[in-house]
Amino acid sequence: MSECIFCDIVQGKIPCAKVYETKNTLAFLDIAPINKGHTLVIPKKHYPTLFDLPSELGKELLEVIQKVGEALRNTVQAEGINLGMNNFKPAGQLVFHAHFHIIPRYENDGLSLWPQKKYNNNDEMLALAQKLANNI
Ligand code: 5GP
Ligand code: ZN
Repeated sequence: MSECIFCDIVQGKIPCAKVYETKNTLAFLDIAPINKGHTLVIPKKHYPTLFDLPSELGKELLEVIQKVGEALRNTVQAEGINLGMNNFKPAGQLVFHAHFHIIPRYENDGLSLWPQKKYNNNDEMLALAQKLANNI
């Protein structure tokens, strides 16, 4: 076993319920689904977070996410799809091998949306947008 559970899955050292793979990506069911069919899409190579992923891999990952999402709509009759990614511990990342969550959603499935906050005023919001833009 290596230190990374998802690397072990890629290498076949531990089993997974695989749904799809490409040269550089693997999609398999999450062992503890938010709703049944909840799928994880991962790069086969180990990158800890979104910020370590080479951007060239982005196209392949997005194509797989779209294919799996479409298949979930047909297979488990998902009425909606959430795409999620947790990066770093405060955001809920438990497995430090970058992965996307594709979550089938239904009307009244009991999951609520994130609570939302407010800016103090529009100036604060515009100032933050400018600060952020300056850092891109
Ligand atoms: P994170 O919180 O890091 O974004 O999500 C990690 C996800 O990996 C969790 O939803 C968890 O249920 C899933 N997971 C953890 N260990 C395994 C495993 O051994 N097999 C599978 N299929 N999923 C796993
Ligand atoms: Zn890994």
